[in-house]
Amino acid sequence: MELHITCIPGDGIGPEIIAEAKKVLEKTASVYGHKIIFEDILMGGASIDVHGVPLTEEAVAKAKAADAVLMGSIGGDTTTSPWYKLPPNLRPEAGLLAIRKALNLFANLRPAVLYDELAGACPLKEEISKAGFDMMIMRELTGGLYFGERKTFEENGVMKAVDTLTYDENEIRRIAIKGFDIAMKRRKKVTSVDKANVLDSSRLWRKVVEEVAKDYPEVKLEHMLVDNCAMQLVKDPAQFDVILTENMFGDILSDEASMVTGSIGMLASASLNDSKFGLYEPSHGSAPDIAGKDIANPIATVLSAAMMLRYSFDLDREADAIERAVKQVLTDGYRTGDIYSQGCEKVGCSKMGDLLAERIR
Ligand code: ATP
Ligand code: MG
Repeated sequence: MELHITCIPGDGIGPEIIAEAKKVLEKTASVYGHKIIFEDILMGGASIDVHGVPLTEEAVAKAKAADAVLMGSIGGDTTTSPWYKLPPNLRPEAGLLAIRKALNLFANLRPAVLYDELAGACPLKEEISKAGFDMMIMRELTGGLYFGERKTFEENGVMKAVDTLTYDENEIRRIAIKGFDIAMKRRKKVTSVDKANVLDSSRLWRKVVEEVAKDYPEVKLEHMLVDNCAMQLVKDPAQFDVILTENMFGDILSDEASMVTGSIGMLASASLNDSKFGLYEPSHGSAPDIAGKDIANPIATVLSAAMMLRYSFDLDREADAIERAVKQVLTDGYRTGDIYSQGCEKVGCSKMGDLLAERIR
């Protein structure tokens, strides 16, 4: 098939890691008989330098015209970069918020995987890291507390602040459907996380998730309170397949889950809308401290590209091939600096890309 992919190399290590992801995608396309048409757009600091704004209308139009967007990372050093002397709505990160909004990306997906070969970096007890884990956190991204009405005011001489957490049933339903769809491509288990013993919004969440579950008889659904989930993530992470949750809970839990893997350079992410369209990017930032040195780990971006093949193109075999290549390269003992341990061979960013591409079959 023909795949139209818009790439946003972005800032910092972005262009380096995107180059390696393209390399691996090209190899995958040639092995499996597809044609990829890449188009690059500017966003973030790279766009500010050329256009004076972090995202242009033309760039949004190009992204919309593609089947999917693959992003490196945007932003720079907030203390030294001139981009951060600009007003907040003109800084690099404003570009990312604007494109998420323009593309209606309401579902954020973050896998947290512990590879056998990297179990040493896992901060959990040895028996837990030995067992390994492979979960997917599905976070609602455009509703809830972060988008509710807020105000700060004085009442009877006392300062008060209010934030409101609102969801309507349609917002819950569309994210729940995504969560169950993704569970069907995995181990067919959904853990819906809420605080239904206290919050009305969580009780509605639970009700709508139960309704959606009826259309997925093969998927096992369980409910878990968010405080318990935070505990279970460090106690027994292997129990989770898909964690489905609202915006703020997902924000906190996905950071917790990524830290228990111990390797930020390995973690992919996706933001999806209600069609097959998605924006795929590594979970880490632009790492300005190591930019331009050819030492960044491209694996998170390569795994994001695999997610893109799986979720935007339904190319599961091709996505599996990329994930197998990542495992193989680790088994063969190659490591970038961030995941290096004694006895392994240290390689740079572009060499890692070559090694991965070689292993696509
Ligand atoms: P954000 O930009 O999302 O706010 P941040 O600035 O807190 O994130 P990162 O840019 O992700 O953090 O960098 C945090 C640390 O991790 C830095 O020391 C950076 O060099 C390192 N790092 C991040 N991504 C990678 C990578 N792909 N390979 C190697 N090191 C990385
Ligand atoms: Mg950063």
